[in-house]
Formats: sequence, C-alpha cells, structure tokens
Amino acid sequence: MMRTGVNMEFRCIQCGDTYALDDILYACRRCGDLLDVHYDPQELERRMVDTDWKARPLGVWKYSVFLPFPEDIEPLSLGEGGTGLHRCRRLEKELGIHSLYVKNEGENPTGSFKDRGMTVGVTKALQLGFKTVICASTGNTASSLAAYAARGGLKCIILVPAGNIALGKLAQAIMYGAKVLAVRGNFDDALGLVGRYVEEGDVYLLNSLNPFRIEGQKTAAFEICEQLGWKAPDRLIIPVGNAGNITAYWKGFMEFQSLGIVQGLPKMVGVQSEGAAPIVKAYNLGLSVLEPEPNPETIATAIKIGNPVNWRRAIQAIRDSGGLAISVGDEEILEAQKLLASKEGIFVEPSSATPLAALKKLLKAGRIDPEETIVCVATGHGLKDPEIALKGCKAPLEIDVDLDSLRKAVEA
Ligand SMILES: *Cc1c(COP(=O)(O)O)cnc(C)c1O
Ligand SMILES: [Zn+2]
Repeated sequence: MMRTGVNMEFRCIQCGDTYALDDILYACRRCGDLLDVHYDPQELERRMVDTDWKARPLGVWKYSVFLPFPEDIEPLSLGEGGTGLHRCRRLEKELGIHSLYVKNEGENPTGSFKDRGMTVGVTKALQLGFKTVICASTGNTASSLAAYAARGGLKCIILVPAGNIALGKLAQAIMYGAKVLAVRGNFDDALGLVGRYVEEGDVYLLNSLNPFRIEGQKTAAFEICEQLGWKAPDRLIIPVGNAGNITAYWKGFMEFQSLGIVQGLPKMVGVQSEGAAPIVKAYNLGLSVLEPEPNPETIATAIKIGNPVNWRRAIQAIRDSGGLAISVGDEEILEAQKLLASKEGIFVEPSSATPLAALKKLLKAGRIDPEETIVCVATGHGLKDPEIALKGCKAPLEIDVDLDSLRKAVEA
C-alpha cells in the first residue's frame, strides 16, 4: 500500500511548490531551487505509534518510519549506519572540555557517511525502475554509489576530477565495477556536466541535490540523539563541502525535536578548508548570494568544492541554530588528523579532521563553552587517502634480525 502523495511530498525550499515523490525531479519546475521531502507530521505520528521502531537495531533503516517510502519497502542495504558515537576522554583532558564525542562515519560499509544517502537513493532508483545511475564525485560519493549500484544490479557512471581523487576511493569505485570517467576540470565542472547529461536521458542522478540522499543522511542525527540517551547535543561540528550533510543533520535534528522525540537543538558549526571556503565567507560577511571559489585548493579533497549546491540551506542551518562557520588551514587539519588517531584510535581522512581542528581554534578564541556536549562528525575513514597520511609520518625504522638492535630501537 503506497502512503506517498499528500502525506509526503517534495517541497521547493524557495517558493514552496509541491510535487509527488515519484516525479523525477532534482529542482523546482517553477523557480529552479532545490527540493526537500516534506512530511505530514500526523502521518509520522501515526507511523510511530503503529510500529515498534525504537526496538529495532541501530542503523539507517531503523528509522524507516521517518523515511519517504511505504512501510513495507525492501531496502537495498549493506548494513549502513549504526556507527559508533565515541566519547573521547583523552582529548577532553587535552583540550580542557567537559564532554566530547566523535561520530565515526568511517564505520559505514564503504567507509563514509555517503552510504546512508545511497542506501536510500539507490532503493528509490530501483523503485522508479531505473537501470543506470550517475554522479559527479570528489571520491566518496563515487565509492558508495558504485557499491550500491553493484548490489542492485544497476549500471553506474561516475565522473571525478582528473588527478584529484584519493587513491582508496578510486580503487573502490573501479573494483565495484563502475564506469569511472576522469573529467579534465574540477568537481564543480564535473557536476555541471552530469547535470546537463541527465536532462537528456534515462539516468538517475545521485548527487546530494537528490532529496533522497539527504533523507538517508539525516538518520545520523537520529542516531546521535539516541546514543546520547534521546538527547540532542549542545553543538555539532561538521565538515562542509557541497553542504548536503549539514543540511541533512539539521533536518534530522529538527524532525526529532518537532515530533517531541528530543528536546532542544544543537548549535551547528560548519567547517571548511581555507582554500575552499565560500560558505564561511558568505556567512561571515552576511552576503545574500554565494561567491563561488573558482580555484578551490586543499589537501582535504572531499571538501574541495568551490560552488556548493546546498549553500543556502547550510547557511540557514547555521543561522537558525545559533551556530557559526569557520575555516581551517591544511596544517591545522593534518595536526588534528594525527591527534585524533594517536589520542583516540580514530583514523579519519583529512576532511573529517576539520571539526577537531575547528574545535581547537574555537576553544583558543574562547568562542565555545567548555561545559557543552560537543559532537564532531568524522565523515570518512583514514584509509581512503593513505598518501596524505604517509606524507606526514616518519617511515618505520629498519632493524636487523637481532635482539640487540631491537632493544636499541625500542629505546631510541
Ligand atoms: C562528501 C564528504 C564531505 C562533504 O559533505 P557535503 O555533504 O558535500 O558537505 C566531507 N567529508 C567526507 C569524508 C565526504 O565524503
Ligand atoms: Zn520553487
């Protein structure tokens, strides 16, 4: 039994125009802005009462009552979500703060949060009857889409910026059998090209302007609330590239709050790299339009994006939550990456270290209350980008097969 329709629909974030969820649409037909999935709160309350959703195991599909599908949907899944929310006591001590958690999205099946969006997005592609899916990607969207497409028996086309994708991510996409095309341009060029291509044909677009991606990704906010004992954190610090994820988290927190599942909302802190910080600039200067960064530059390739499609929603989330936007430099990112790995055993890729780098900077400037409950989102696994990791580390010391040299080396 389909329960889509008036109970759930696409709604334009700008003009409020509405569309059915089975319309194949990535933007409003009237004004061209992005679409959101809007739910009738009474329908959600009915679904909550009808199911024992709280008893299900943690993961994206635990929250299927809050997702835009009929309740008997069979998801295309690899077991995504249910990632750890790790209390970081050694870092708390080091930074002089009361409670710090890291939500480690590197624990997802392909090693990044993108899997939350893809399990939902590719389930939708299958429901709509598509045979081919496509995306432009800085890397992790490619890895994730390629995996879910393989599992769903779909053809997968991926456009990446030539020479600008981390090794682990490229290996994944190729291994999962996607057609990987290296575009001679940056991510923004690749996304523009994909957008024009999908207008022509029977191909489903799975970049984060696809509202189903956002729906899947919002479940990370649900999980954090649940893992904190059905409480929202005081502050969420998150890397921002195309800004789909900060949009998704904010939507998730707002939905749980408006349904009375949790009280309160976190302050949202969006973090970008200094060389790719158009949202930070727009927010801090109070600009009403985004000035794209024509030549984004940073070692954090996952957020090396100059013209983020979800910028308006990111700024809205930051403003409405009383949060802030901040940029960090490559050196600060590498330092934070090492700190998180060596102090807490959590190895993340460079973009995922930006929240910790930002936290250090904000504490130093006295802009964060040390008593807050803070969650840093670690968006992707460190093994995604081994080249960057090794560049900043000493090579292992070579020794002879000899007890004396071992003793000497251990003490050195
Ligand atoms: C995609 C990605 C980001 C950026 O997320 P947006 O939704 O584009 O803002 C950050 N970190 C990692 C590891 C990613 O894969
Ligand atoms: Zn519109």
